[in-house]
Amino acid sequence: DAAINRIAAGEVVERPASAVKELVENAIDAGARRIEIAIADGGKTLIRVTDDGCGITPDQLPLALSRHATSKIDGTDLLDIHSFGFRGEALPSLGAVGRLTITSRAEGHEAAQIAVSGGVMDPVKPAALNGGTIVELRDLFFATPARLKFMRTDRAETQAINDVVKRLAMAEPFIGFTLRDVSGGGDGRVTFRADPETGDLFDALHGRLGRILGNEFAENALKIDAEREGFLLTGYAALPTYSRGSAVAQFLFVNGRPVRDKLLVGALRGAYFDFLSRDRHPAAALFIECDPHLVDVNVHPAKSEVRFRDPGIVRGLIVSSLRHALAEAGH
Ligand code: ADP
Ligand code: MG
Repeated sequence: DAAINRIAAGEVVERPASAVKELVENAIDAGARRIEIAIADGGKTLIRVTDDGCGITPDQLPLALSRHATSKIDGTDLLDIHSFGFRGEALPSLGAVGRLTITSRAEGHEAAQIAVSGGVMDPVKPAALNGGTIVELRDLFFATPARLKFMRTDRAETQAINDVVKRLAMAEPFIGFTLRDVSGGGDGRVTFRADPETGDLFDALHGRLGRILGNEFAENALKIDAEREGFLLTGYAALPTYSRGSAVAQFLFVNGRPVRDKLLVGALRGAYFDFLSRDRHPAAALFIECDPHLVDVNVHPAKSEVRFRDPGIVRGLIVSSLRHALAEAGH
């Protein structure tokens, strides 16, 4: 039922930035090396994500737009559905609340295109494309006026999109990202660009963090590489001298995806307690890898929240390894 679909879709897609997150994650999952994002009017009138990933075959295009259809888990992985958030919801949701066009070409197949607008799907038709996928979303929430009213200014939505793209770019240093604002038409203006990083994972991450958080962060960053009870912690944490007046430079990633969790704020405060006054906030980008069963990312499909089964272990791991790194650096 179209109305129910639109209500459910509003749960997955809260605002333009959540649409960008879903589309860019799909491009990452497709093995893209370069991802280009174009937005207009804070993403309200246009979001276009272009990737050089594996593409979608013409016969799979309608399936990609069907509810709960995902190519990413098979029936044997039922438990993992809950580990990776809501599955197979993003494209059908976007097609229900906006005008969505997917153009794609998988290796060994012809390019094809499918469009869905307000939940009404057109048949697949031939298209021209060398490879990869272009997903274009126009007029987000045109089909749900109530949602439309809740969108903030173009400026605020653009800022939220910037934030989402930067977090994803931190999580994927080997992928090149370009974010372009095409509000004025034409090629628009590049607002963020990060070329694919090289070297080992730490080199790449260090380079990418310098690109996003600035060279001053990179120059003051301590390498973190620790493990405890099945949790692997890596990343960089800045020296206390490079602290900020707010918690804007604190980033947490769990199993490769950006998440928001108050746990990080508390753990960082604990680690830097002896070195920073309460009005100063440490800067860090930390990556936790663990068995998906030790974490529940399914708290809300649109919010990147996590719930660790045992937050104490994670907190302890962060505090002790950062204190150790700080001590080694002479603190
Ligand atoms: P999910 O990502 O949870 O599988 P989505 O609704 O986001 O669900 O996408 C549905 C399916 O469409 C994916 O499983 C994938 O097969 C295909 N797909 C979506 N975007 C892309 C892309 N950029 N490149 C290749 N395949 C894609
Ligand atoms: Mg997806």
